[in-house]
Amino acid sequence: MAAVKNLVVGAGLSGSVVARKIVEELDESVVVIDSRNHIGGNSYDYRDDVTGIVVHKYGPHIFHTNNKEVWDFISRFTKWRPYQHKVHGFVDGQFVPIPFNLNSLRMVFPRVLADKIENKLLDKIGFNKKVSILELRKVNDKDLEFLAQYIYEKIFLEYTIKQLGLSPNEIDSSVFGRVPIYISRDDRYFQDKYQGIPLNTYTEMFRKMLEHPDIKVELKTPFDKAMKYERLFWTGSVDEFFDYTFGVLPYRSVVFDFLTFNQEKFQAVASVNNYPTNYDFTRMTEYKHFLADWSDKTIVSCEYPIDFSIGKNDRIYPIANNDNIALCEKYIDLAKRLPNVYFFGRLGDYKYYDMDEAAERAFEVFKKIKEGR
Ligand SMILES: Cc1cc2nc3c(=O)[nH]c(=O)nc-3n(C[C@H](O)[C@H](O)[C@H](O)COP(=O)(O)OP(=O)(O)OC[C@H]3O[C@@H](n4cnc5c(N)ncnc54)[C@H](O)[C@@H]3O)c2cc1C
Repeated sequence: MAAVKNLVVGAGLSGSVVARKIVEELDESVVVIDSRNHIGGNSYDYRDDVTGIVVHKYGPHIFHTNNKEVWDFISRFTKWRPYQHKVHGFVDGQFVPIPFNLNSLRMVFPRVLADKIENKLLDKIGFNKKVSILELRKVNDKDLEFLAQYIYEKIFLEYTIKQLGLSPNEIDSSVFGRVPIYISRDDRYFQDKYQGIPLNTYTEMFRKMLEHPDIKVELKTPFDKAMKYERLFWTGSVDEFFDYTFGVLPYRSVVFDFLTFNQEKFQAVASVNNYPTNYDFTRMTEYKHFLADWSDKTIVSCEYPIDFSIGKNDRIYPIANNDNIALCEKYIDLAKRLPNVYFFGRLGDYKYYDMDEAAERAFEVFKKIKEGR
């Protein structure tokens, strides 16, 4: 079998961006393989046959970035529906904006207390600032300490226990310390300059990105060591490439339970991220919000976090604690010794990346190759 010039493992965002860059800027051919039966990786979506609603198979994906280069590149393959994501948390029986902001404050506390805390936040930190619980505690004010503790308990703690499958004392304080409070009345989840949902689905956007005479896509094709290549771009999990020599990198997986309801709307916003103390799921997402799909029915997913197990479920979130990062570094050291093999993407780097960050990383890998040619 003749060697493939460029073999890309994974037809997700990372692999697709690199493939497109290679054919356009190096004028070389690329073969993209993916073990799944579809392109798009975890950003894959599809239109439900019965309701016509576009559903994100691996959970809600909102494109948002401040990086114009990324936005311009991706926008070559799709038009956008302008969309600003809003998220609620279910706290003490009420749906409140997340991240917790001045509107949330007024919803959960009596007016006199909310006034007092709001004035202190404005005075000691300032309007339109984001502050973490840890920073709030450092202000050394008993009302702000009370607020930090309230958010920690009601929004963060139970949610994180479910999400990570850890007990409270196993959770690193630096993690909860990063939980933000937004001193603003802006209820949007992201404040990035560019935000949207692909008008004709993410999958169509990926199809266009991969549509090129020099790109061949082979689905239902797991990587096989017998495959020959001049360059290999690996966006699968780095431990898998090395046959788990040092051990398996742990991930959290998620079971998505999709439900169709005979009602026009289920919830006020696309995602209710926090069901901290109620139910076993962490998040409910109603998909018709993203593209304003009209239907007299609606589709909602509930997310149940579980441990990842090879061959049984998908790798969803890397568990980036110190031990796992150290394990990953051992693999990265091995990877560095291989000429013409490049590891990147959320699995190749063992890092949580938003889509724009995955694209930036793919640009970076490509740039290295282009400059080294
Ligand atoms: C629940 C959830 C919600 C998210 N929401 C957002 C959001 O709102 N906004 C945002 O910007 N980002 C979001 N993300 C992040 C986004 O999914 C990632 O940035 C993106 O998927 C990264 O692309 P990737 O190509 O690196 O990885 P992936 O999309 O995972 O693609 C990797 C591909 O490689 C294939 N593969 C792996 N190993 C092999 C092998 N051995 N042989 C063949 N094929 C293989 C896999 O099948 C997969 O298709 C979310 C992620 C999750 C999990």
